[in-house]
Parts: sequence; structure tokens; C-alpha cells
Amino acid sequence: MEMQLPPGLDRRGFDSALAAMRRTIGDTKVFATDLDRQTYIDAYALGDGMEHAASMALAPETVQEVQAIVRVANEHKLPLWPVSRGRNLGYGMAAPRMAGSAVLDMTHMNKIIEVDTRYAHAQLEPGVGFYQMHEHLRDNRIPLWMSVPANGWGSVIGNALERGIGYTPYGDHTSKICGMEVVTPTGEIVRTGMGAMEGNKAWAHYPHGFGPSWDQMFVQSNFGIVTKANMWLMPEPEMSAHVQVNLPRPEDIGWAIDALAELRQRGVIEHNIIFGNYLHDASAFTTRADWYQGEGPLPDAIAEKIQKQFNVGWWTFHLSLFGYGRIVEENMKIVRAALEPRLGAGLDWKLWKRGEPIEPFGPSTGVPFVLPLNVANWMGGRGGHVGFSPVMPPSGELALAAFRSRKARFEAAGLDYYCSFTMGHRHIANVNMIIFNRDDADMVKRTQALFTQMIKDAREEGYGEYRTHIDYMDPVADTYDFNNGALMRLNEKVKDALDPNGILAPGKNGIWPARLRKEKRA
Ligand code: ADP
Repeated sequence: MEMQLPPGLDRRGFDSALAAMRRTIGDTKVFATDLDRQTYIDAYALGDGMEHAASMALAPETVQEVQAIVRVANEHKLPLWPVSRGRNLGYGMAAPRMAGSAVLDMTHMNKIIEVDTRYAHAQLEPGVGFYQMHEHLRDNRIPLWMSVPANGWGSVIGNALERGIGYTPYGDHTSKICGMEVVTPTGEIVRTGMGAMEGNKAWAHYPHGFGPSWDQMFVQSNFGIVTKANMWLMPEPEMSAHVQVNLPRPEDIGWAIDALAELRQRGVIEHNIIFGNYLHDASAFTTRADWYQGEGPLPDAIAEKIQKQFNVGWWTFHLSLFGYGRIVEENMKIVRAALEPRLGAGLDWKLWKRGEPIEPFGPSTGVPFVLPLNVANWMGGRGGHVGFSPVMPPSGELALAAFRSRKARFEAAGLDYYCSFTMGHRHIANVNMIIFNRDDADMVKRTQALFTQMIKDAREEGYGEYRTHIDYMDPVADTYDFNNGALMRLNEKVKDALDPNGILAPGKNGIWPARLRKEKRA
């Protein structure tokens, strides 16, 4: 595999940076063989992934080693791309935005520093995985629940830093961060919130501190390396109730989104709802070839067959209620009154009560799973997926319009329409996931064209994405265009002040340091 050098560094410069890294943190924490570099290629890359190939990976074990790496990176102008566990599938995994960057892989910084059972929070290093955390809580009988994303193989902190979500009331992960420790691009250690006071006892209790509140500045940015963070956990409820709801017709999205938005806004439903089409189940358990061998998008007749086999609707969503038993019982009545008359059928709730095993309920009770990874096998070949997810108001009418226009785009591109509307507290994220076969060059091209088209369509409709794949960070950032891109000019000013040598994650979310701004994709 040909090695990619970062812009501004020739082979000699690179070799001396590599030697300095080896001297500084030791050979065993520096990975720079071809096989090592291959390991950090995005498994779902659109193409061969070389546009985002890392030149090496560095695996620190302590915050002092992170500081030392940053110092050497500044001396040698070696760009660093920090990841926690680097499992950001569909967004680039551990691969850097800019080829030739060194991946700063924090998998080995995986200490659960503290879990406070009484006040329901934990202090974690970035490498702590969802499975590790779940096992820790379970094995120590700690009555606190996590919130986990659809694929639970990543890290608690890495996911929160990308604004990942889960399906319990604590599912807006980034909002559950309460103070962090950060190594700045010039190597200083800063603690945010109350942690700015040495020995402060309320660091994990109050997120803001005194003066400006910086936690979100280190989220989806390239302004610092997070080396630990406090995360709030959910006290185990007395009871929870779960129900699957199937909607038979595509148009049902109109009334259903409106009804759910009201339940969400009034706090009856307190978790992110995934409102997905039939392909969710089909792609988790079968492949396209099991259903259809033809070209073009999946015909509607097949959609019907899939719905029957998996007992799902055209759309399906799952609702959960949590809390004291009496309140859950009352909320079940409220949800029934809101949905059953339109459904023309009763809701079939499944109950969980404290003391019973939660594992069977999976992510809706904060238990990690990885079943949706199967999605990548849908098309055959080496599979991948990439999601286009604009944020919209939670309106049934707007959701119906978005659904119709995106579905038409997928069909015109000859691709299967995998869609969900993820409902947060006051918004929906319309996840349009393109599943492709990496080995089919024409399909990859159609995927890229469809993604670019959807960025444009959504911009015209007045929507922007909440998160994106490394390939699309520049064009998506460009859609945030108020006052000729004033927000990006602000980001760049901050970037240049904090990172004068431009070494930290160049290009992350479209933010380039001054010396590399010409790398920005037009
Ligand atoms: P996960 O561990 O869940 O797989 P990643 O480690 O892939 O998540 O993190 C997702 C993204 O968040 C990374 O690509 C990076 O941009 C950012 N990120 C992750 N960890 C850190 C960190 N400790 N400091 C700064 N940014 C981070």
C-alpha cells in the first residue's frame, strides 16, 4: 500500500516525526507498517479509502503521553486525528479527513475512573466502550442505566463527541456530558465547567461553571483532544413499558409524526424514537438477494412480502416509557388515547419491572447490541453505508414531503430506499441511508451522486445535516451559509488562535487551519 504523506511534510520530515514519536512514547505505541495503515482505512469507504489513509497511528495510555504526542506533532507539523475507539461507522470510522494524518487512537485509555451510584454519573476515559461500561454496571450491580447507540461497539465519549444518540431518556448523549478534561492543540491541559477549580466537588453535577461554558466547543470540532469526561447516567426506573407500532401505509407518516411530536414535547415519551421503513428489519436479518435478483430499486410487491415476514409496517417505531410504576401506567393510557383510534388496533405493551433481567429489551434499556451491522451485507460484495441526515421540525406534513422527494431520488438512482425519521425532543433527523456494494464501481458513483444531490435538495428546502461522513464535511459545512459563511469564519478564527501550527484534525467538520485551508474541497 502506497503511503500518503500529509501536505507540507516530505518523506524526510515524516521519517523524523515518526522517529520522534517512537522516542517519545515508545515503539509499542506507534503503528506504522503497511498493515497498520490498512487497519485504519474506512471499511465503508466510497472508493479505495486512500483519500483518507492515515500515515501512522499512535496509542497513548496517559494524558501525559497525549501531551507529549501533541508537542512532537507541533514540532514536526504532523497532523493528528483523535479518535476514542474509532468505530464511527458510516462516517469514516477511524480514518482521518486528511490523508497522511496520524490517528491518535485512544482505545488504550479506557479507565472507568469513577462511578457515583448515589448521584448517577461516571467519569470515563475516551476508550471506554459501551460493552465495557455495561458489563461494569451489571457485574457490580450498580442500579444505573447507560444509553447506547444502534451499534454498541464504539465508545461512550467518542459517540457523545459526534452527537450520537440512544433510545433511553438519556439518549441525547452530548447533552449528558458534564465537564471534561481536554488537551489543547498546543498541549495544555484544561478542565471545563466546575473542574476549572482544583479539587472542586461539583464538577460532575453542574455543567456550566463560571463564565462561558465550553463543553460543546469540543464536540464535532477540532479544538481539543478530550482525555476524560463526566457523563450522567440514568437511575434505574421502577418500571418500563415497551411497544412496537406498525403503520401499514407510507402516508401514515403524516399523522403519526404529529402525534409523536406532541407526546415528545409534553414529556410523555422521553426518548429518541426511530421511525423506520421496512428495510430496517429486512437488512438486519436477510440480504437483498434473498428477495430479489433484479436491477433497480426494490419493487413495492417485495416491500409487502418483507412486511408480512417480519411483522412490520411500511413504517415501524418502538416506544418506551420509564419511571415509577404508577406514572408509567398513566402514560400508557395517554399514548393509547393518542394512537389507538388512528391505528384501529390496541397497543401490545411489554413490561419490565425492577429486578427482572433487562438484557432482552436491548438498546431501549441501554443494553448494547450490534445487530444493525448486518445492514452492510444487504447489497452483497464488500458492503458499506452512508447516511444523509438533515434536521427538520417535527411536522408530519414536512416529513411526508421529505419522504416523497428523497424516495424519488433513491429510485432515480436505482438504489434501495432505507429511511428513518429519528425524533428528538423538538426535531426530527431524516436519516436517508444509502447501502452500497463497495466492489460495484457504478453503484459507488451513483451513491456519491445521490448524496451530493440530497445535500443540495435539503439546502434548497432549508435544512442542514447534523453530522456527516468525512467525504462530505466540506460541502455540508458550506450549506451553513448565513452572511456569506460567517459561522465558518468564526470557527476558523478560533481554530487559528488555538492551533497555530494547524496540527489537530485538519478539515474536521469543514474547519481547516490557515496553513491547510487550500485543502478544502470546492
Ligand atoms: P467511537 O469510539 O464511538 O467509535 P470515534 O472514536 O470514532 O467514536 O469518535 C467519533 C469522532 O469524534 C472522531 O472521528 C473524532 O472526530 C471525534 N473524537 C472522538 N474521540 C475524541 C476525543 N477524545 N477528542 C476529540 N475528538 C474526538
